[in-house]
This record gives sequence, C-alpha cells and structure tokens, in this order.
Amino acid sequence: MEYPRRSYWHDSAEGIKKAFGDSIEVKDKKFDILLIGGGITGLTTAYLLKDCGFNIGIIEATNAGYGVTGYTTAKITIQHDLFYDNLINNFSLAEAKQYLKANEEGIQLIRNIIKENKIQCDYKEQTAYVYAASMDEVDDLQKELKAYEKLGIDGFYTETVPLPNKVYGAIGVRNQGQFNPLKYLYSLYNILINSNVKIYENVRALDINPHDDHVDVETEKGTIHAHKVIVASHYPFDNSFGLYFLRLYQEKAYVIAARTKEEPFEGMYINVKDPIHSMRYQFSDKESLLILAGGNHRSGEKDDENESYEELERFLFSSFKNPEIVSKWSTQDCMTYDKIPYIGRYTDSIDNLYLATGFKKWGMSHSAAAALILKNKILNIEDDYSGIFNPSRFTPFQSSKEFASSVKSIAMGFLNRLAEDLEEFSDVNPGEGKIIDYYGKKVGVYKNEAGEYYCINPVCSHLKCALSFNEAEKTWDCPCHGSRFDIKGNILEGPAVRPIDKIKI
Ligand SMILES: Cc1cc2nc3c(=O)[nH]c(=O)nc-3n(C[C@H](O)[C@H](O)[C@H](O)COP(=O)(O)OP(=O)(O)OC[C@H]3O[C@@H](n4cnc5c(N)ncnc54)[C@H](O)[C@@H]3O)c2cc1C
Repeated sequence: MEYPRRSYWHDSAEGIKKAFGDSIEVKDKKFDILLIGGGITGLTTAYLLKDCGFNIGIIEATNAGYGVTGYTTAKITIQHDLFYDNLINNFSLAEAKQYLKANEEGIQLIRNIIKENKIQCDYKEQTAYVYAASMDEVDDLQKELKAYEKLGIDGFYTETVPLPNKVYGAIGVRNQGQFNPLKYLYSLYNILINSNVKIYENVRALDINPHDDHVDVETEKGTIHAHKVIVASHYPFDNSFGLYFLRLYQEKAYVIAARTKEEPFEGMYINVKDPIHSMRYQFSDKESLLILAGGNHRSGEKDDENESYEELERFLFSSFKNPEIVSKWSTQDCMTYDKIPYIGRYTDSIDNLYLATGFKKWGMSHSAAAALILKNKILNIEDDYSGIFNPSRFTPFQSSKEFASSVKSIAMGFLNRLAEDLEEFSDVNPGEGKIIDYYGKKVGVYKNEAGEYYCINPVCSHLKCALSFNEAEKTWDCPCHGSRFDIKGNILEGPAVRPIDKIKI
C-alpha cells in the first residue's frame, strides 16, 4: 500500500523492515495473546512477552510504522514538559514517584533492547531541556526544579543553552536519549518475526467480544480468538466498554525536518507556553537535520491548519539562516483529562482485555513503561509503579478543567451538523473541500485540480460527529475524537474502524 503521508523517518528507515505478506489468512486463528496495533507500544510489549512461552499474534490495520510512531519527534525522556510540580500537587508524592519510576524503567528498557540486539537506530544520549521563552515563565521553571528535588530527579538550572532564539532560563535533565523511531521499530519488527511472533498487516480490528476464558476479535478478514488481548491501537476503538471516547481527546502538532547552515546543537529542547517549539537535531552517518515541532491544538478545532505550518515556518526562518525544509508532516496523540496515561486492564469487569493509551506526546518512554506494566499484568507479577496508570481510576478533580473544554468541542461536533451555512457545488474551487447542500442533503465535496469531484457523507463513522475539511492536508477530520479520512472516505487515522460513505452524484 502506498501512503500519501510520509515523514522523514519513513524515508530514512526504508529497507530495514523485512517484507511481509498482507494476504495471509487470519480467520479463526487462535493465540494465547493477540496485540492490536503495530506501533511502538504493540511491538515493545510483544518483544517483552515473546520469550514467556506464549503463542503471540499482532494485527495491524495498515502497516507497522504508519501510526503516530512514524511521525513523532522521538525524544526519549522523563522530562514531559513542565509536569512534576503539578503532578505532586494534583496527585501525591508517592504517585508522582510511580509515574517517574515507570518512565525511568521504560527508558532503561529501550537502552537495553538497543544494546542487546545491536540495533542501528542513531540512538544518542542527550540532555533534555524545558526552557522559558519569556521572563514570566522562569518562576515556573524554579517550581519544577523544586519538584525534581522532591522526586530525586538529577536536574539543573541554566541560562546558557545553544539555541538561536532568545531563552530566559532552562532546566535540564542529563542522560536522556533520542533515536530514529522507525529504524528502531522496524528492527523490533524483524526480531519479532524471527522469534515466531505472527504479524498480520492490513488487518483492521472492528469489534472486541470478551468471553469468560477468551476474547473474540472481529476483523475485516474474519474472527480471531485469543486468551488475552492487548489493545495497542493508539486510540481504543471499541466503544462498548470503558467509555474511552468520553475519557480521551486527541491533540495535533506539526513537524518540520530541515537542513540548517548553523552547526547542529546538542540537547533536546521544548519551551513552556504556546506557541510551543520543540527542537533537536537528528544525527546520522549521512547528515544532521533539525527536527522542529509545534503548532499544538486540539484535533479538528483549527479552522485553517495551514496557519500551524506557517507559524512553525516563521519561527524556523526567523531563528535559522536560510534553512532548507526536507520534509514536513503532522500527527496527533491521545490525551487523558488528568494527564496520566491509561495502562492496564481495559475495565475492571473484564479479566482478559488490556490497553495502553493517552501518552500525551510523551509516548517513547510511556510505551516502554506500558510494555513492562502489561507484561507484569499478564504474568500476574506485582510491581510498585503501575498504580497511578490504572485505567479504572476516577479523578474528577484533576480532570475537570480539560473535561469541560472537551464537552464543548464534542457538542460543537454534533451542533455543526444542524447549524452550518451550506455552500453550493459552484462554490467549491479546485483544491477545496466544502459541505454543500445538494437537494436538501448535506454532502462533503472535494474538487481536485483536474476538476474532478469526490463526494462523501460528512459524518464520522465512529460516533456520528460532523466532519470538517482540512485544507492543509486535504482530509476530512472529526473534531470529537480525531478520526481522519481521505477525500474518498478511506480511514487515515482512528478511532473510526469503518470508512465514511461515498455519495454518487
Ligand atoms: C507531534 C508529536 C510529537 C511527538 N514527539 C514525541 C517525543 O518527542 N517523545 C515522545 O516520547 N513521544 C512523542 N510523541 C508521542 C508518541 O509519538 C506517541 O505517543 C507514540 O508514538 C504512540 O505509539 P503507539 O504505538 O501507542 O501508537 P501508534 O504508533 O499510532 O500505533 C498504533 C497502531 O495501531 C494501528 N491500529 C489502529 N486502529 C487499529 C485497529 N482497529 N485494528 C488494528 N490496528 C489498528 C495503527 O494503524 C497504528 O499502526 C509525539 C506525538 C506527536 C503527536
């Protein structure tokens, strides 16, 4: 399958992954453990379970590496923006220590996997920094540093960082890391195939049906049976249990890979407040590229996504001398309202179903932490760091502010269907997508440069929110839960598991 959305990582990791057929029969296959999703979470968890005597299968809706992991910025760090001061205040010191320990263990796991398997993924130890781009943010850095002390994080304050833009202060954490995420992921993929883990690509799970002693997973190509199922599909797509569609939203960001004239700097950087700019160089034996990310917003909420790319480019061109853009892309990650991922049993009432999601743009360390936690859960091993990630927790106090804004977005997603000013066919210019009134029926119309029309029913197949057209990427996007579809209605990103209806005009 040819993907329109490619990142620099896809180009630079080409050829590493062994070719694997997608027409292999899955109907009525039986596994001890089935993982749904071939991103970093699914493959790392399978890696940890592969030597535990289980018969393991993985199904992937598209191809491994074409989920968020193929579009990330791949900083491997426990420094998750400014976070630990709030974490201690909103939870407890003991719970904050669990969060930290899980992520530290996760980072150590990634290092061990790379070392033991001699994986060539341009891994490099780096210092991670969060910096103040204005004077009023410096106080927040000081508070965070105090939280570091309470938690035993070896952090430090500095006013000198090698960035081209103005910085008022920064806190650093040494011995963090970065890598090429797809060189790493594809190497894991090869290891798993050689270890007899069965990976089936282009097999999308549609429904999950748990029973007392096993789980049936309905896919596009038949039912698969497994004793235990781990949902590592990024957004948990099944709405029957756990109510995750009410407990998660997606946040989008934009990335540019660029050649710069300046000497590449060491370290990985992110600032405190909007507009967010995350920067690091990717060093490989071929070249060093700046990886710049930013433009964060809730998925589906931006009227014109081109503005996000433009803002990022303005920052790039004002901070660096004549940079050359090599590649740019966007992606989105799942956010929980209390800012703690969900890792563990899908719901308390089902024994043999697990998930890991809500990594809030810090999924490198969290995916490895999830793999460790899920392995322990499957093997019934107690640990001292998974409690805070319990998916069945109830945290109304920590979640209320974000939740209120989410309810507003979801309500708008439904109301848009009622109260939109509709255009007519003749209003759609080449390269545009619009919702038009066609004999009293709402139709989503895209017109390409050759003047051909593509018409769809502009209602998300997930939970029926109204879709809006994303001009920058020529996609139909859902503001409620972040599903995305191409101009023909095919799924680009979940949680939707079914395409949207094409309309013949
Ligand atoms: C702009 C941006 C920058 C980021 N930068 C960083 C960073 O620097 N450091 C960091 O730690 N984190 C970062 N993250 C977060 C990190 O990239 C993600 O949290 C992580 O990659 C998620 O991995 P995953 O395996 O859970 O999901 P994915 O990589 O999305 O994998 C899930 C897989 O499941 C498949 N799937 C979905 N639905 C189904 C289905 N129904 N049936 C079968 N398969 C299905 C998908 O096709 C996909 O391949 C960033 C995120 C964003 C948005």
